[in-house]
Amino acid sequence: MNSLEVKGIGMTSQRTRERMVKRLREQGISDAVVMDVMRNTPRHMFVDEALAQRAYEDSSLPIGYSQTLSQPYIVARMTELLLAGGPLQRVLEVGTGSGYQTAILAQLVGRVFSVERIKPLQKKARQRLRTLRLNNVQLCHSDGGMGWQQHAPYDGILATAAPEQIPEELLAQLAMGGRLVIPVGVDTQHLQLVVRTPAGFESVCVDKVRFVPLRPGLVR
Ligand code: SAH
Repeated sequence: MNSLEVKGIGMTSQRTRERMVKRLREQGISDAVVMDVMRNTPRHMFVDEALAQRAYEDSSLPIGYSQTLSQPYIVARMTELLLAGGPLQRVLEVGTGSGYQTAILAQLVGRVFSVERIKPLQKKARQRLRTLRLNNVQLCHSDGGMGWQQHAPYDGILATAAPEQIPEELLAQLAMGGRLVIPVGVDTQHLQLVVRTPAGFESVCVDKVRFVPLRPGLVR
């Protein structure tokens, strides 16, 4: 056990995590594998120590630089939507943030490529993913609105920051049959699921959501 886990022992008790999973089930999450992974991932490691005891609550949490780690329900919902078409080999995440969503994905798909525009957040995320020995993740400090061409096409793309409109580049980097889960909009945002089919892109609007905006430009 590493020191972070030792520090968090009280609030990370199996019971606290069980409660989180029970709540997810009540909120309508049905993918048992996703819930298993969330039960076993130390969410408290992805926030500052002062917030660790709130890590398994049903709320989003600040991670610095005006960014937030989504509430467990949203993480579960997006992951479930992404995986609903069957197993995924290559997944692009836009907005690494704390690295929590990255860690969840890494345990469920072949490889995760994740981009983040704020360098210090990426640095912390990298350390956490390393501590957890999630070695099938590659991180990049870049503007995720452009996707990550080098590793495309992806059979899944998940964005955790909201653009006004879906960037063309993300659609272009989706493999045939690939799935994109992304919050879209400014004041009112909706989670959208886009599937690439031979006939074109099929889009379904899912939940109403609240995400930080997708922004251009890098922070060093
Ligand atoms: N998945 C993250 C959520 C973090 S919030 C987690 O589990 O913690 C969304 C993140 O998207 C922020 O870290 C923000 O800096 C990042 N972001 C916003 N616009 C971006 C862009 N154009 N390219 C890459 N990352 C971006």
